[in-house]
Amino acid sequence: MLQQIIPIHHGKLLTREELDAYDPAAEPWQKQFSRRYTHHAELYGILNHVEKVDESVYSQFSVAITPYMAQLMDRDDPNCPLRLQYLPTRNEESKPGFQTMLDELGEEGDTIPGTSVVHRYPRRVLFLVSNTCASLCRFCTRKRMVSQPDGSVHKDEIERSIDYIAGNKDIDDVLLSGGDPLTFSDERLDEILGELRRRAPHVRFLRIGSRMVVQLPTRVTPELCAVLERHRVQMINIHINHPKEITPLLRERVKLIQKAGIMMGLQTVCLKGVNDDVAVMRELFMQSLEMGVRPYYVYSTDMVEGAHHFIVPHHRMLELYEGLRGWISGPAVPTFIVDGLGGLGKLPIIPQYVREELRADGTGTTVKCRNYAGRTVEMPGLGLDFRVPSRTN
Ligand SMILES: *Cc1c(COP(=O)(O)O)cnc(C)c1O
Ligand code: SF4
Repeated sequence: MLQQIIPIHHGKLLTREELDAYDPAAEPWQKQFSRRYTHHAELYGILNHVEKVDESVYSQFSVAITPYMAQLMDRDDPNCPLRLQYLPTRNEESKPGFQTMLDELGEEGDTIPGTSVVHRYPRRVLFLVSNTCASLCRFCTRKRMVSQPDGSVHKDEIERSIDYIAGNKDIDDVLLSGGDPLTFSDERLDEILGELRRRAPHVRFLRIGSRMVVQLPTRVTPELCAVLERHRVQMINIHINHPKEITPLLRERVKLIQKAGIMMGLQTVCLKGVNDDVAVMRELFMQSLEMGVRPYYVYSTDMVEGAHHFIVPHHRMLELYEGLRGWISGPAVPTFIVDGLGGLGKLPIIPQYVREELRADGTGTTVKCRNYAGRTVEMPGLGLDFRVPSRTN
């Protein structure tokens, strides 16, 4: 049996005038979900200069944009950081010089057969519960399943996944993701989380990754927060790539989650043209910190089909990191990550500030240090394998 996630019928799409007057907080989230724009042609007249793309783009990845997200988009600028994230462009039709794929991270290889659990690391698992999101990001790393008609997670797959977690006593950390787990109804989430907690008491840390909080903040209701609190969800990681996504409505709903005692983290994808800029990143992470949402990871764009034009080169990611560390509050600085090809896993991208070097006279090592602003100092004692002069008095 399929999970009932997507509303069967489409609600009426909002015109530009209706969108200008639209109050996203005044309508139940399910209603807004049914009013999503799902074709670039539906945005003609809503936004200007919408690029006409070939229909073949849709066979690879669907389009979905909530009215709330459309409202935040710049009406005229095709390079608006929100438009770039959600509107398809002709870039998706071109092929890069390197190979792209649908499952670049090799998650299928690490999926436990019959389940939707990716068990790659010791003691913790990624549990994919849904293949839908409120809006669809053009650079999505899970294009192999997200929005694909045959990518739905079946009810019995979810049951077998819970069986697996219940039967593996050394799993102490479960990360629910998708797609977006919050596309489920409160009742269904209540069932899944309740079943997990009841059958797997050895799980110490239960977390959810969701972008719906950002794409459709009204999904966060007191009822939802009660469900999350009841089942002791300890952390929710939201996904924001640009300060424009942080609105008063988002702040208000984030506060609801925090009131339920849930720690919050931020995940960001490093995207060319959207946030590959030190000033943009500093602002994003400081605004996040102000909300009490701790920047956690910045991911490099994965080599998925139709997303190559977003890739920020590795050397540039190092520079971006160097523009943050030391320059803004420590808690605002996330870890930069590249997810290794074919299942190698998360690899931190860390510039070297401290480096051991053989001394010119060959007597041992010295440690060369460089601070955030480029000042350097040598610390010969830190290597500790050169001959320590003995006291002879
Ligand atoms: C990211 C990820 C996790 C969680 O990793 P943390 O570094 O603990 O946040 C777990 N499993 C898979 C497959 C992942 O990709
Ligand atoms: S919210 Fe996440 S899973 Fe959903 S489309 Fe965007 S990147 Fe993919």
